[in-house]
Order: sequence, then structure tokens, then C-alpha cells
Amino acid sequence: MLANGRPYLAIPGPSVMPDRVLNAMHRASPNIYTGQLHEVTHSLIPDLKSLARTDGNCAIYIGNGHAAWEAALANILSRGDHVLVLATGRFGHGWADIARGMGINAEVLDFGQQKDVDLERVEAALAADTGHRFKAVLMVHVDTSTSVKNDVPGMREVLDQSGHPALLCVDCIASFACDRFEMDAWGVDVMVSACQKGLMTPPGLGLVYFNEKADSARETADLATSYWDWRPRVDPEQYYQFFNGTAPTHHIYGLREALDMIAEEGLEAVWARHERLARTIWAAFDAWGREGQMALNIADPNKRSHAVTSAYAGPGDGDRLREWCERVAGVTLGIGLGREPADAYFRIGHMGHVNAHMVLGVLAVMDAGLKALEIPHGVGALEAAAKVVAEAR
Ligand SMILES: *Cc1c(COP(=O)(O)O)cnc(C)c1O
Repeated sequence: MLANGRPYLAIPGPSVMPDRVLNAMHRASPNIYTGQLHEVTHSLIPDLKSLARTDGNCAIYIGNGHAAWEAALANILSRGDHVLVLATGRFGHGWADIARGMGINAEVLDFGQQKDVDLERVEAALAADTGHRFKAVLMVHVDTSTSVKNDVPGMREVLDQSGHPALLCVDCIASFACDRFEMDAWGVDVMVSACQKGLMTPPGLGLVYFNEKADSARETADLATSYWDWRPRVDPEQYYQFFNGTAPTHHIYGLREALDMIAEEGLEAVWARHERLARTIWAAFDAWGREGQMALNIADPNKRSHAVTSAYAGPGDGDRLREWCERVAGVTLGIGLGREPADAYFRIGHMGHVNAHMVLGVLAVMDAGLKALEIPHGVGALEAAAKVVAEAR
């Protein structure tokens, strides 16, 4: 009824595409053999590295996040190898499933759906691994299903203190360019990401970052087939080797524009914007939660993502609220991924091309939906959210 106008897809990826990115992609197919496309492709690499705060390598794959998961494992592991996977929601399990499909033994430590990684439990698991069977520890920085943010530097410390040589591999698909991440300073060996969340580009590019230590594992990794091999991709003798085939022509132009937008704002400012917008959302939930069942999934603010928010509405009410917001007001919220009962949960994506009016709009629509559906909730959510925005300079 009131939905006509610009829709807002407030799901945690794909995220909102800026008009600048769309316009940059709106062009005839470029020549892939010579010319501007080659220059633009080369220009992406230093910028992608600086976003991850690394001097290491960045390989690009035509693929989604699942492709990046598989690419990373293929370059460091052999069939039959063991890895330790830290699961704090659906995506840790997803990476473990990919590993198993490749013939890797994935041992999962599950920390539930409302908590971050318990580093003491990881420490115990590594201490028990006296033969250093685990070749890698796989963890998710921000798990998009639970919206928990894990302590990556803390995990590095645990590995160092236990003297365990496993590679530290981190999935930053949801968090990249939203939540602070510093690959080199945090001692991360392999990082995987994708372009359709904080990078504001349509799904289709997977990113795999790796340092020298990870690259030496590549020497013996028998899962590294020629297509997934990261070495030619980061050091191509011929242009086609960047992507082992035809380049993702239009994604290259779109990503170039997105990286320019991030550079113009400044990475620190991008992180600060995501943090304040996240706090705006949390303030609304604090007020809603004073009556009824509405609640954020992660209780500790320090462990919440700045890119996505997972929340509980009550059985059936997650789905009712999502349906109402989309049908009546043109805002699409994310489903309660991997939760039971799924219809009790929902998620808000606030990653990439989002600003205060978009977030305040989502919250106001949700507030209207709660009233229209007579879902019990505390008052004052919009006032509280506006206050957090008003405190921005
Ligand atoms: C979105 C996401 C993935 C999966 O990416 P796809 O592009 O859907 O394959 C993996 N991990 C995390 C943390 C994600 O947010």
C-alpha cells in the first residue's frame, strides 16, 4: 500500500548497490585482451590489500563466498588433513561442510547461536592436539546468521601461546569493510571475503588473501588444482591468469567504483559509520525489549557485528514482521537463518551503502509494523535511535 518508491533490501547480502557502482557497470563489453580493463584490474589489487590492512597477497576468483571458502582450503590442505572449525552460527558449519566435501577432516567446536568463540575451549583443543594434526583453524569473524563478532586477535594469541603451528584462516565475508579488521597486525594467515556485502558490488567475486606462511603450505597442498591455484592469480604472466579465463569484466568496473567510494570516505570513517548505525539499531531494540519478546540475539554489545543484526521477535512474529515491512513499506528484512523456529527470528542487514536515513527508515517501519501487527513492544525506540544519530558529529 505504501511500498511504491525506492525499495530497501535490508538483508545481510547482497547489499544495496550504489548508483555509482551500477553506472560504472553500465557499458559495452570491453576488450579483454588489451587496454583499459587490464589497467583497472591491476589497480584493484593494492586497494583490496589496503582494505584488509595487509602487505600479503590477494587472489580474486569468479565466484561467491562459498567459492572463496573452497579456494582457500584447496591451496593449503591435502585430502585427509585435519582442521579445527570454530562455529558460532550457520557459516562456521558451512565452511566445515565445504572442507568435508573436499576430503578434509573437519572437527567442529560449536559455541551455540548466541555466543562468540570461547577461547579457553579452543586452547584446550589445541593443547590436546600434541601431534599438531590440525593444519588450520577456521573461524568466522562475523557470523551472519547470529550476528556475533569473534575475537580474531585473541585467537592469534591462543595459537601463539600454545605454540601450535596451525594456519589461522578467517572468513570476513560479512564483516569486510564494515567491522575493523587488520590482517597483518592480527596475525591472520588466510582471509576470505566476497564482493556483495561491504564492497557493494553484485555477487560474483570471491577474494582470498594469504601471507607467506600460508603460501608455503601451498607447496605440499595436494588439493590445489590448476583452476583454484592462487599463485598464477597473484602473479600472472598473462592477463587471463588473473581469473584463469575470461575476466569478470563488469564486476571489475563495479568494484573499482566501490573501492573509490570507500577511499573517498576513508576506511576509518566507513568503520565508524557502520558502528554508529549499528548502535542506532541497538538503541531501538533496547527500548522495544522493555515490553514483550523483542530481543537482540547477542547480549554483549562488544560482541555484536556492525554489519548485521540478528534478533528474536517471538514464534511466528519474525515472519509476520518481515512480511508486513516488505508488503506495506518496501523494506525487506532478512530471514532467521539457521534458527529454530526460523519464523521467530529475523535479521537486519546494514552493510555497505547505508546511511542514517536508511537505518532510521527501517527502524520506523519496524516500529509501525509492531503496532500494526499488535506485537507487544516497549515505547520510545525511535526517540532512542534518533538520539544516537544526533550524537554523531
Ligand atoms: C554471505 C556469507 C557467506 C557465503 O557467501 P556466498 O556468497 O553466499 O557464498 C559466508 N560466510 C559469511 C560470514 C557470510 O556472511
